[in-house]
Amino acid sequence: MAKHVLVTGGGGYIGSHACKALRAAGYVPVTYDSFVTGWCDAVRFGPLEEGDLADRARLDAVFAKWQPVAVMHFAALSLVGESMQDPGKYWRANVISSLNLIEAACAAGCLDFVFSSTCATYGDQDGVVLDETTPQRPINAYGGSKRAIEDMLRDFGLSHGLRSVIFRYFNVAGSDPEGEVGEFHRPETHLIPLMLDAIDGKRPALTVFGSDYPTPDGTCIRDYVHVCDLVDAHVLGLQWLEAGKGSEVFCLGTGQGFSVREVIAQSRAVTNREVPIVEGARRPGDAAMLVSGSTKATRVLGWTPKRADLSTMIADAWRWHQSGHYER
Ligand code: UDP
Repeated sequence: MAKHVLVTGGGGYIGSHACKALRAAGYVPVTYDSFVTGWCDAVRFGPLEEGDLADRARLDAVFAKWQPVAVMHFAALSLVGESMQDPGKYWRANVISSLNLIEAACAAGCLDFVFSSTCATYGDQDGVVLDETTPQRPINAYGGSKRAIEDMLRDFGLSHGLRSVIFRYFNVAGSDPEGEVGEFHRPETHLIPLMLDAIDGKRPALTVFGSDYPTPDGTCIRDYVHVCDLVDAHVLGLQWLEAGKGSEVFCLGTGQGFSVREVIAQSRAVTNREVPIVEGARRPGDAAMLVSGSTKATRVLGWTPKRADLSTMIADAWRWHQSGHYER
């Protein structure tokens, strides 16, 4: 019998790559998406149920129709800068919607839950090696909202037997090397796609957000992980839950940090083009450095990132960038 997995945000950047990986692993991904930030064109690997997580009756109907063995919950607002300007939007869209989803899953008896969390839950911890045991002290509403959802999952674990695998992502980059899906946001706010826009003249320049951070070159340092590697970990997390191994938290990064200037230099090398830049002010809510110090996903899940070089991520993103984008 087909094993359905309910994928919220299956029309988004990471969710669409997860659907492809799930299908390759023998599951049927059922996308649940409102298309507020996702794309119909990105739903290619299984059925689509259009709907909003705020709509509990719709969620109940979808659980009843597909009887999923698990939920993978990607749907969320995820922009640090926006979350600082409009925190209410983040608490409502992320926390209240997730509560609805968790309650619907528990009511339907669908008790295996894979959750897309973030290293933004750690905040700005100068010099601390970040891993699953690091205390979470978010400095923006996005990180705060994700930490709250992690807390809810633990509470429903105790009360309803919900089993969760929580993945705290570092900076997700790259695109499907086969070009079926890719990174595309509107508006775009992420470093690598904005830089590629600046390289091919779609934007006048990339603004570097702050060059006075306490880092060697003054720009923020991030740990970039390839989206295909990231979603492979999700399939392993799902299999972990299916094997009855219980709730866990994993950081997903490569453990290597790159400054904004280093990402720019690598992009120049990969594309063989100049990157027009202007120096700008810091973006509120940005931590100076976020780099994973964890090997737990590799040790425990057997996760082996295959596209861990930043140049591979940029090359895959560049290929996708040049091939076009979604219409809707
Ligand atoms: N960044 C930048 N200019 C931009 C977009 C991002 O300098 O136009 C910086 C940002 O300050 C951060 C890093 O690039 O240090 C990665 O930002 P992104 O928005 O891609 O991901 P985030 O770290 O916010 O999840």
